[in-house]
Amino acid sequence: MKVIEHIRQATDTLISFEILPPLKGKTISSIYDHLDPLMEFKPAFINVTYHRSETMFKKKSDGTFEKVEVRKRPGTVGICAAIMNHYKIDAVPHLICGGFAVRETEDALIDLHFLGIDNVLVLRGDAAKNEASFEPEPEGHRYAIDLLKQVVNLNHGLYIEEDIKNGSNTNFCIGVAGYPEKHFEAPNLETDLMYLKAKVECGAEYVTTQMFFDNNKYFEYVKACRSEGINVPIIPGLKPITSKKQLTMLPKVFHVDLPADLSKAIMKCRNDEEVEQVGTEWLIQQSRELKKAGVPVLHYYTLGKPTVVRNVVKELS
Ligand SMILES: Cc1cc2nc3c(=O)[nH]c(=O)nc-3n(C[C@H](O)[C@H](O)[C@H](O)COP(=O)(O)OP(=O)(O)OC[C@H]3O[C@@H](n4cnc5c(N)ncnc54)[C@H](O)[C@@H]3O)c2cc1C
Repeated sequence: MKVIEHIRQATDTLISFEILPPLKGKTISSIYDHLDPLMEFKPAFINVTYHRSETMFKKKSDGTFEKVEVRKRPGTVGICAAIMNHYKIDAVPHLICGGFAVRETEDALIDLHFLGIDNVLVLRGDAAKNEASFEPEPEGHRYAIDLLKQVVNLNHGLYIEEDIKNGSNTNFCIGVAGYPEKHFEAPNLETDLMYLKAKVECGAEYVTTQMFFDNNKYFEYVKACRSEGINVPIIPGLKPITSKKQLTMLPKVFHVDLPADLSKAIMKCRNDEEVEQVGTEWLIQQSRELKKAGVPVLHYYTLGKPTVVRNVVKELS
């Protein structure tokens, strides 16, 4: 079922989770071990992130180095299919522009369609680790909206291969990303929202947000979106803080602020167990307030911390 149908049919705030594919070499059971403790909350859907390849320099036996492309976390498509089979829950694969030529994207979409997956979260992806800013593949998309248009075309049976006539239509429900604290490259929120609106006008049916730690940022963002005419559901993305180093890492990597009350409480902690307690309590309060405000879904970035997320969600019923 499509994410948008889950939202339309819901009588209460839904729960969803986001997971990372395991590192290469691990088995699918590591995903089940991660998700099993969360299944009691009957998530409406589970997102699986996509990780592009990284350029690495590997030492050869003669002492010289060779440049190799390594994908540390392969398997988004396979994991989505496994989740759907194993739990009978809808999976939402993330699809990115980075590292993909448009024909490879088409193949990935066809595979997803064959597997009965009818949701995608369409993203640009971040710059490759060895690049200062995002560079598309020579035959790839530059912005999420370009990828979105390709998915919409396929939903209308329009394939890149021109000689495919009467190709079957796919039926993807398309989600996109939104940033309550603005995307870090956007000159201002207004411009960022202009591009978000363009994605919605092209066919995005809902928005999932970047994590935030101050609900007012989300409420103000939703208000700003509505006043710009962006009227699709906006799903809040939520993450528990579990270590002291995240005080600097989260603002650096995700370009988000931490409220002073939260950072002060974390700084007082003597170890990461105490930080986890503070982070759990903070996320419970955030979740309760969002649920009371009637958000469509509480979407949790589990990022290796299913137990913490479990402790949060079980406080909400
Ligand atoms: C919910 C969520 C899930 C994510 N999952 C993943 C994942 O699985 N894998 C991954 O690699 N990354 C993921 N990301 C990170 C995301 O890929 C990055 O934040 C990326 O930098 C931007 O992606 P986007 O889809 O918002 O890009 P875009 O919509 O393309 O926007 C990128 C920037 O360009 C601007 N812009 C947009 N359209 C145009 C245009 N037509 N002309 C000029 N400027 C434009 C925007 O304002 C913004 O500043 C996720 C982010 C979120 C919020």
